[in-house]
Amino acid sequence: MKDIIIIGGGIAGLTAGMYAKRAGMDTILFERMFPGGQAATTYSIENYPGFVEPISGPDFSMKLEEHARKFGLEILYDDVNEIIVDGDVKKVVTDGQVYETRTIILATGASPKELGLNKEDLFRGRGVSYCATCDGTFYKDRVTAVVGGGDTALEDAYFLAQYASKVYLIHRRDQFRGLKILQDRVLKHEKIEVLWDTVVESILGEEQVEGIEVRNVKTGQTTRLDLDGFFVAIGIKPNSELAKGKLDMTPDGFIIGDESMNTSVPGVFVAGDVRYKPVWQLVTAASDGAIATLSAQRYIMENFG
Ligand code: NAP
Repeated sequence: MKDIIIIGGGIAGLTAGMYAKRAGMDTILFERMFPGGQAATTYSIENYPGFVEPISGPDFSMKLEEHARKFGLEILYDDVNEIIVDGDVKKVVTDGQVYETRTIILATGASPKELGLNKEDLFRGRGVSYCATCDGTFYKDRVTAVVGGGDTALEDAYFLAQYASKVYLIHRRDQFRGLKILQDRVLKHEKIEVLWDTVVESILGEEQVEGIEVRNVKTGQTTRLDLDGFFVAIGIKPNSELAKGKLDMTPDGFIIGDESMNTSVPGVFVAGDVRYKPVWQLVTAASDGAIATLSAQRYIMENFG
């Protein structure tokens, strides 16, 4: 039986793993895709303490994995299908195996939200994208649009402007939500045109994105914009399917955890973007991961001796 099973290999999970192995806990971490989580799809990280020069998301993620492995963390690249959390011994079920553990740390992160437009799903990968840093280079000298007004949309627009001939930044209000430093970069960039008070009505094209129809919510005027790449950056939704019906959650699916990362089920802890909290940042996710492991350690001492 394991001491801790961590589900999710973003910064929260990898930090939890690092702390656990350093403390001598028998621990494994499950990751379904690649280490680093959302950080791995970030162009440049410039607000993580200690990294004075900006570091790319993929490089940062590799460092995280390397750091966790240095302490001997075992990372299994496998999908977890179910967690069984009633009883003192918890179970983590993958396709081929059932793992027993004293504690579970859920660090499954969050994924980009969708707009819910016609053809949004159909054209995913054919002009519709949720990751500018992954797909942006395909749009060299092409026209693109980004929807959203938060940090992600501002960063994506700025990133795309390096390659694209033009970037429309479409926001439903007349004020951005994102950081001032990011706003300033975007507003003075010659290739970026901000469309305020504007919503996207539909995606146009036969086989792939050829344009979009937008509507100004103040004037009611609709306009067709011809473009090749359509990037959606309207926030995140939690990856909390494993916890449905088992742990307390907010109505939009974030797992509720207290300051010690305890969930509503003793022995099950939560960390990172899947947790309901006011600030979703790399540094807060790392902090969650460390706290979750320390709480799990305390729980094991108190309940298993
Ligand atoms: P966010 O802060 O929730 O912003 C989402 C944006 O999309 C808002 O401007 C919102 O408009 C707009 N939006 C939401 N639903 C929409 C819809 N259906 N149609 C049109 N527009 C819609 O999301 P985020 O930018 O992805 O950031 C998520 C979290 O990660 C935040 O906590 C952010 O600070 C953090 N983050 C930090 C960094 C960094 O520090 N460098 C980088 C990326 C993300 P309204 O403003 O009108 O609500």
